[in-house]
Amino acid sequence: MRDSTPAGVTVHETLPCRVLVGLGARHGIPEEVERLGTRRVLLVATPSAGGAADELAAALGTRLAARFGDPVVHTPVEVTREAMAVVEQAGADSVVAIGGGSAIGLAKAVSARAGLPQVAVPTTYAGSEVTPTLGETENGVKTTRRDRALAPGTVVYDAELTRTMPAGLTLTSALNALAHAVEALWARDRTAASDGLASESVEGVLATLPEVLEDPAATAPRERLQSAAWLAGLCLAQTTMGLHHQLAHALGGTFDLPHAELHALMLPHVMAFNLPSAPHAARRLTRIAGRDPVAAVADLAHSHAGPTRLSELGVPRDGLRGIAERVVAKPYPNPREADVDALTGLLHEAW
Ligand code: NAD
Repeated sequence: MRDSTPAGVTVHETLPCRVLVGLGARHGIPEEVERLGTRRVLLVATPSAGGAADELAAALGTRLAARFGDPVVHTPVEVTREAMAVVEQAGADSVVAIGGGSAIGLAKAVSARAGLPQVAVPTTYAGSEVTPTLGETENGVKTTRRDRALAPGTVVYDAELTRTMPAGLTLTSALNALAHAVEALWARDRTAASDGLASESVEGVLATLPEVLEDPAATAPRERLQSAAWLAGLCLAQTTMGLHHQLAHALGGTFDLPHAELHALMLPHVMAFNLPSAPHAARRLTRIAGRDPVAAVADLAHSHAGPTRLSELGVPRDGLRGIAERVVAKPYPNPREADVDALTGLLHEAW
């Protein structure tokens, strides 16, 4: 669709979504299920959602048809098949997912196959709950599809549910969100609306992430950080991903790497690479950060013990050029054109 629009015209698509946001919003989920007119809920929840999922199961009462507790990162189709067997056996007519991007991805996959309405209740900052995209893995190959019907119709943001994230996951997941917003600022299809969302998101993450890490019990910064991640997810939904997400997909898919850690450690390197060719993004980011934005993001990325180099994630040095070649063969749109040598250099920096 986008390709047939007149030159110089950008399509900005807003997906219909009902969003509940605020402390205690999770208590409204049974009512949201009722609004959907469904009576048999499949509850998808990782063990990490523990107490909140049990509480929700109890609140759903007889409307709970089944639970599925084993979502896996990158949505392997074998796991989706297992969940589909549960859907069929239980006669589920809606799906509620509570957890990180993996739980929400599985709910999207199930919803796509069975046509079920979804309620997404994120417990990380990944942003998948507001996007119309789904990445699925089959035989080790990850394919991504985009379809408006994949986006959950109801999203519930309750910052209480982010409290259980350990500091390392809080940091990397928030930087994963930041990456969505930063790439939106240099996207070829950015608009005034996406710029607004991205700027507020970047400001929110930079202002509140250090506070949340410093004082995990504080409520106000935690709520603002979650909202910044919401806006970052909207950026991901509305603009086309560039080099940062492409590198994350290529590296993550090839070497089976943890999603949020990978985004967190790559982001400052891709910013340093791209910003000289993206003056609009550079100006905004510098204004928001109040200093060199690459240094600001790198400082955040290093502010907690955890992997900060690709080598620490187990990426082999001799695999870097192959990743660069794959990216150059079919590049996502990016403000700076890159050849294999330049990209290999970027990857070596991150290694
Ligand atoms: P995740 O869902 O895999 O969670 C990472 C780990 O953290 C898991 O062990 C999980 O159980 C645990 N966890 C989650 N919430 C927690 C909490 N509140 N407290 C304690 N532990 C918690 O990780 P993620 O980064 O949220 O999501 C990654 C997945 O989402 C990937 O498959 C990625 O491709 C996908 N994703 C998709 C989109 C999209 O738009 N389609 C966007 C972002 C991410």
